[in-house]
Amino acid sequence: MQTPIIIANLKCNPSNIKELFKLQDSTWNKLNKEKYKYYLATPNIFLRELAKEKYKAFDIGTQNIDKVEDGAYTGEISLSQALDAEVKFCILGHSEVRARGETSLEISKKVNETLRANLPTVLCVGERSRTLETYLDEIKNMLVASLQNIDRRYVESLVIAYEPLWAIGASRAATVDDCLEATIQIRRTLVDLFGISNAKKIKVLYGGSVDEVNAASFIRLGGVDGVLVGRASLDADKFATIVNSIYEI
Ligand code: PGA
Repeated sequence: MQTPIIIANLKCNPSNIKELFKLQDSTWNKLNKEKYKYYLATPNIFLRELAKEKYKAFDIGTQNIDKVEDGAYTGEISLSQALDAEVKFCILGHSEVRARGETSLEISKKVNETLRANLPTVLCVGERSRTLETYLDEIKNMLVASLQNIDRRYVESLVIAYEPLWAIGASRAATVDDCLEATIQIRRTLVDLFGISNAKKIKVLYGGSVDEVNAASFIRLGGVDGVLVGRASLDADKFATIVNSIYEI
């Protein structure tokens, strides 16, 4: 297995930096091997403090970049500010950000700029529900619309996170079969967009109610290269079990 990509998406948690350090120290102490590594998508306000600590267990990233340029955007952060805060990756197009009104076209412009800046970029896509038979088209259309005019020279820094909306923050995750089906659709679409040799360089993750029990199965059977973890990343025991179980497949 290639090195897995395991991302903790803390969302708007925890409530203070002390708790955040405690959580990461505790997670680190529970990892079975020093070389096990994960990625921490933290609230922006904690980035600088985390960067100072030079943790070996994880790289830090941001959960969104609001604007590609600086300017009169109250409350938002720009790409250059994120780079200045030493982020090693960013998430774009998370459904919770899309729900606040961000369009796929806007997301694609940001993906263009983050990739040009050589910032590894995790683009989230996923269907709203599976009740309509068109969910595979929905995934494809969202992916194509969020990757408009991307220069194929930069796709090596692109990662796609398949995050079905109905499984995010829910009581159940997608099944490995659901995940595999969507992953095949995503990889096929990436081949159409960028050609086979470029598409092969793009990693695909699964996110949505990943926990310490199901995490490794998405990689073993669901066709993905890693996972994006929300709630379970706020519990050191659960998150360390996720990392250990994936590295020990
Ligand atoms: P969840 O969140 O693991 O709590 O479902 C996943 C996500 O929103 O990325």
